[in-house]
Amino acid sequence: MKKSDHKNISCEEALKRVFDYIDNHLEGSSKNEFEDHIEKCRHCFDRVEFEKLLKSRLRALKHKESSEGFRKRVDDIITKF
Ligand SMILES: [Zn+2]
Repeated sequence: MKKSDHKNISCEEALKRVFDYIDNHLEGSSKNEFEDHIEKCRHCFDRVEFEKLLKSRLRALKHKESSEGFRKRVDDIITKF
């Protein structure tokens, strides 16, 4: 059996890693801890799903629409979340 040395992290800790996780920047125990957390925590799991959806929507939008004003608004929306 694989030795697991990752600890349980808090929601606060998990939420800090959401974007890195979606961008595949998490590795090793950081990733294990995060995946462990969202397996058990519905709230954080929903957050990940939401961010993934938002990201794919934005990517689709950016593809069609490239005006500076629009991009700025999208950035503002992201910052608020
Ligand atoms: Zn959580």
